[in-house]
Amino acid sequence: VPESDRQNLYPMAFTVNGLDRQANHRSDVPFVDSLRDAPSSHCLLFNGDKTFAPGGLPQPIVGDVPQHALFLGIDHENIAWFAAASPIEEELVDLRSLALSGTASHEMLGRLAQARALLHWHERHGFCANCGAATEMADAGYRRHCASCTADHFPRTDPVIIIAVKRQGKILLGRQAVWKEGMFSTLAGFMEPGETIEEAARREVFEESGIRVGEARILFNQPWPFPASLMIGLVGEALNDDIVVDPKELETARWFSRDDIAAMMAGNHAGGCHTPPPMAIAHRLIAAAMAEG
Ligand SMILES: [Zn+2]
Repeated sequence: VPESDRQNLYPMAFTVNGLDRQANHRSDVPFVDSLRDAPSSHCLLFNGDKTFAPGGLPQPIVGDVPQHALFLGIDHENIAWFAAASPIEEELVDLRSLALSGTASHEMLGRLAQARALLHWHERHGFCANCGAATEMADAGYRRHCASCTADHFPRTDPVIIIAVKRQGKILLGRQAVWKEGMFSTLAGFMEPGETIEEAARREVFEESGIRVGEARILFNQPWPFPASLMIGLVGEALNDDIVVDPKELETARWFSRDDIAAMMAGNHAGGCHTPPPMAIAHRLIAAAMAEG
């Protein structure tokens, strides 16, 4: 399948889930218990960032859902899905590799993303941020309660802006030293308190590259469960073209021409440069910016 068609055929990883999360019923303990005890219920097992995937295919256990499992939702066949941390050490695959390999269905990737982000939050929020006492899970995994000071804590999602900046037919891409050789991507960074999405994008681009962004538009977004980000994708127009890289953030940043980008996406760039894979929002943003001209 040509690359241009692949992009249209396959949704970005982690964006499709297919579960009814039953948010209004998660605090109903008998309801959740009945789902947990149903012989048809499925449970995804995780050990850290890795999930149980015999032969490389993620596989839930059926029935025998652990008491500590988190509730994910109910699928279109009325099967309840859960997720649990497990000391399992065999047949594990990390979520990033799974998304890259394309072996798992998109609905499965979405469920794994929900599970991974939620499990990670529980692993690191065993104690109350308000008073320091131990907290306990509530609402089938969507709340932790502190019995000592009565504070409730909710799973967090960290918004990250990611932006394809363009100017006169070229696109600004940068690379971090730790990335695979030759990979260049759109600039990205965590939002700060009290910022709009567009302001965060302008701040990050200027900090990292010295480029001022004028008009900026939100195009699409992608859950990114490493561990709990939501990538908010924009395309923006640069107001200058003299790059000044912040070496603490980036190894380098460059303007790439339309021809460069086409070759990078096709995997035959003369300089050995390439873009992130189609499963990532960065790839879609670069394609969208190119299509806009
Ligand atoms: Zn407390």
